[in-house]
Amino acid sequence: MAGSRTAGVVVIGSGAFGASTAYHLARRGADVVLLDQHALASQTSPRAAGLTSKADTLPVMARLRDEACEALAHFESEMGRSVGFHRSGSLKAAYTEAGEARLHQGLDTAHALSIDAELVSPAQAERLAPHFKPGAAVRAIGHVPSDGWLDPAKVAAGFVARAGELGARLSPFTPAGELLQSEGRVTGVMTKDGEISTRVVVDAAGAWTARVAAAAGIALPLVPVRHQLFVTEPIAGVEPLQPIVRLLEASVYVRYEQGGLLFGGYEDHPLVVDAAAWPPGFDIARLELDLGVLRALVDEVGEHFPVLRTARVALHRGGAPTMTPDGRPVLGRVPGLEGFYVASGCCVGGLSLSPAAGRALADLILDGKSDPDLTPLSVERFAGAWASPAALEAACVAQYARKYTH
Ligand SMILES: Cc1cc2nc3c(=O)[nH]c(=O)nc-3n(C[C@H](O)[C@H](O)[C@H](O)COP(=O)(O)OP(=O)(O)OC[C@H]3O[C@@H](n4cnc5c(N)ncnc54)[C@H](O)[C@@H]3O)c2cc1C
Repeated sequence: MAGSRTAGVVVIGSGAFGASTAYHLARRGADVVLLDQHALASQTSPRAAGLTSKADTLPVMARLRDEACEALAHFESEMGRSVGFHRSGSLKAAYTEAGEARLHQGLDTAHALSIDAELVSPAQAERLAPHFKPGAAVRAIGHVPSDGWLDPAKVAAGFVARAGELGARLSPFTPAGELLQSEGRVTGVMTKDGEISTRVVVDAAGAWTARVAAAAGIALPLVPVRHQLFVTEPIAGVEPLQPIVRLLEASVYVRYEQGGLLFGGYEDHPLVVDAAAWPPGFDIARLELDLGVLRALVDEVGEHFPVLRTARVALHRGGAPTMTPDGRPVLGRVPGLEGFYVASGCCVGGLSLSPAAGRALADLILDGKSDPDLTPLSVERFAGAWASPAALEAACVAQYARKYTH
């Protein structure tokens, strides 16, 4: 990193969370250094599915998701580059009483925030997305016309590029080492080029977040798990503006991609990733994938997406998103170390949350408060629980497994 060895804020990690935070800080005139151990914006973020979802049962999340979805839709006008947002809308289908209740709860929260969301009949759903066959057992299908999908590789990269244009100092291939502290507050970050003095550090290190915090003696309740998707070869009749389809109980999602369909889902027993055991320099590109997990999910839902039974897989990818024990992200101050903030625990929804998460966190850092108030997402909500690693892992895995049922 050229130039000065001091910074107003050091952001560790240039994935969607860190890059958005750095951009929003730079936009407000803060002196920011953005560090990444690898190439910028190169790890889990570009491997996502790129779905947005506005319907969330927790009001603070529904507000952030609404703001974030609109920011992604208007990314080009604010950031000068597109993320390829397609306002396809989304369908969510429930097949059990509990799923139906959950679906209604999400629609109610959307209505309370004036987000257009409605129930549609199975015939309407099939007209909107002809590759989706809801079947006779479906109990309810929700439709949110303002949802959409985008090119995941362009989100963090777009924030990084704009942050740089606004004066943020970008440092790829620069792992953050020890967090320096004195009398209970952050004073700097060690890198291979020496110390950067700062009074504010944001830990947005994705799967490595807990490892970065542990170096400062802080335990964060975060567990990375493997999540995967595949994209088929082109399929006749599949169109970009056909809605995303999610099945609640099976917890799978399907959308258009490159003329074919993108399919991903949440199995019962995900691979838990031990990021603490990764060697220095480990790259998510080396994460072992298993197409069998996705094939088993396709077998389960084949009657609803018959075309997936025979479609050829053109691309298979995956990453290591980070789960929390309650399925919500961790955003905000970290008690016990003044000036230390975290933006992580994406729970496989961080790409589409990042514009609002970064904006709110930047406001919290610069103003001491944000709108919406991020207190419900603060790590303090866990209040020292999950001291046992086994209990923490079990709780995080439970949140991942069949995620749409929680
Ligand atoms: C298959 C798949 C599908 C998904 N689908 C969606 C979706 O449809 N919608 C959605 O919103 N989300 C989705 N996600 C989740 C989404 O990818 C994550 O929420 C998002 O990428 C999280 O970003 P991040 O910034 O936390 O992590 P990352 O993108 O992994 O960024 C963290 C960065 O920190 C850096 N870092 C780590 N340690 C250090 C260190 N010591 N020093 C310097 N740098 C460091 C890393 O190199 C990395 O670049 C999906 C994920 C996967 C894998």
